[in-house]
Amino acid sequence: MKALTFLGANTIKYQEVAKPIIKKPTDVVGKILWTTICGSDLHILKGDVPESIAKANEQKGRGLILGHEGVIKVESVGSAVTKFKQGDVAIVSCISSCGSCYYCKKDLQSHCSNTEGTSGWILGHEIDGTQADYVRIPYADNSLYKAPENVPAESLLMLSDILPTAYEVGVLSGKVKEGDTVAIVGLGPVGLSALLTCKTLKPAKIIAIDMDDARLEVALRLGADEAMNPGKVDAKAQVHALTKSDIRESGVDVAIECVGIPATFEMCQDLIGPGGAIANVGVHGKSVSLKLEELWIKNISISTGLVSAYSTSDLLQKVVSGDLDPSVLATHHFKMSEMEKAYEVFKNAASNKAIKMVIENDN
Ligand SMILES: [Zn+2]
Ligand SMILES: [Zn+2]
Repeated sequence: MKALTFLGANTIKYQEVAKPIIKKPTDVVGKILWTTICGSDLHILKGDVPESIAKANEQKGRGLILGHEGVIKVESVGSAVTKFKQGDVAIVSCISSCGSCYYCKKDLQSHCSNTEGTSGWILGHEIDGTQADYVRIPYADNSLYKAPENVPAESLLMLSDILPTAYEVGVLSGKVKEGDTVAIVGLGPVGLSALLTCKTLKPAKIIAIDMDDARLEVALRLGADEAMNPGKVDAKAQVHALTKSDIRESGVDVAIECVGIPATFEMCQDLIGPGGAIANVGVHGKSVSLKLEELWIKNISISTGLVSAYSTSDLLQKVVSGDLDPSVLATHHFKMSEMEKAYEVFKNAASNKAIKMVIENDN
């Protein structure tokens, strides 16, 4: 079969590799129908993820197959798999989890103690992933979701990672409630997913903040009430002016950080109002400053996290009922054989106005 392999920092190759087989009774092997590329794949490609470098080095020239998002058609099932059979179409979760360990029982599947790696995120990170003709999914009963008919690939793909990530780590951890005012800082694929999933909880106002006007335009089109570019306006002053009222102090109820740099985390601290919550989704590479001297007296809570994908079924239900339409995030279509080209486009996502790529198997 063909696969997109990671050979080491800044090196990927679309090449012929052996097709995966069932290794454990809880495995499923499926044919990839559609897959996509994530910001995390670019982190790995840059050489920022040591586990993936180690895996690539274990098999020189063959490397590690990237990708943790996709939709498969089940081809073979292990003897202990009960929920899936040959021919089923299923969404691959970015988190593979056993469903029975200490952490899985607490809905912290991201820390599953029984995976083949260091966390629940193993696909395309520590074991071969979804950017290939076929993939092996460990603990398939807990790590795949049956795809309902009539839901397009463009929507199914978003349920692998970006929707549950934005919803769990941003919207649910931030405890967004009906009537809240929410600021979303950073409107890339995950920020836009936070916007879409946040809207299902009916906040009064969503304020989108990004340095890129094109992304702000998309946010407004997808339902943001206000859009601000802090490179052009004083976002802090504008947010406080917008949220002032006779009965309460200014500031947002929830600030969702979807960038992962010190400046945007700092901005969230500047925007938050009394009793508010800062939900950090962005992946940080550096320490940030924490204004505890200002936050404590405002009763601010701060949350962080890696997705556990416990919300995937709920989100799928929202898609089926029409409350949520994530297909709007699909901006580019490629064939699997054009994978290397798709990476080039996604690497320059801003200039290509790329949000998510839909990559279809050629066969
Ligand atoms: Zn991802
Ligand atoms: Zn587990």
